[in-house]
Amino acid sequence: MSDEIEQKHQRKMARLKEVVDARIDQAQEERGVLIALKGNGKGKSSSAFGTMARALGHRQKCGVVQFIKGRIETGEQLFFGQHPGVDFHVMGTGFTWETQNRAQDIEAAEKAWAIADRMLQDPSYQLLVFDEITYLFKYKYLDVNRVVASLQKRPPHMNVIITGRTLAREIAEIADTISVVQDEKHAFRAGVKAQPGIEW
Ligand code: ATP
Ligand code: MG
Repeated sequence: MSDEIEQKHQRKMARLKEVVDARIDQAQEERGVLIALKGNGKGKSSSAFGTMARALGHRQKCGVVQFIKGRIETGEQLFFGQHPGVDFHVMGTGFTWETQNRAQDIEAAEKAWAIADRMLQDPSYQLLVFDEITYLFKYKYLDVNRVVASLQKRPPHMNVIITGRTLAREIAEIADTISVVQDEKHAFRAGVKAQPGIEW
């Protein structure tokens, strides 16, 4: 009986290996990808920075522009900002509902985008993270078509991760990988106070 189970398992694994090997053979194109992480759940920025840790493990040069934060120093800024392999930039304004100044927000967005755009043209970067960029399109602080044009012109090997709750259709169309982080439960709604190391 146990032999039979063993043989059945082996046959199943052999079939699975054939399928996986065939898929691996098919995916031979070598180029950078655009990854978009969207949705209302928690885990988008932390996923992007987890990938950055991975890239740094391979000694790849990385760049970050955080498009919304700036008021509180985040753990990712304190950690990756010190890393010699990372150029870390934070848009110079606080949360929108605190600044309440559209002209000032647009100016800050333009400045931050200029840095991001420069990075997109610099082939020495292997991975760029544009954290929370999608909200700039939602509020029309930045023209999405300009961003799409720059993303498309970037050096072929360059990987880019963008995060934000919503994703503009124009970006979705050119993204290679899109993951949706769904909100099922969040401790905040149960009254747990936001905490360093988890929230920022
Ligand atoms: P993280 O940075 O933890 O990966 P995120 O990038 O997916 O989160 P954002 O939309 O950027 O999420 O929101 C950032 C902050 O809001 C984080 O402090 C996060 O814990 C919190 N947050 C994310 N999703 C929710 C939610 N559904 N309810 C309440 N707070 C949330
Ligand atoms: Mg985030």
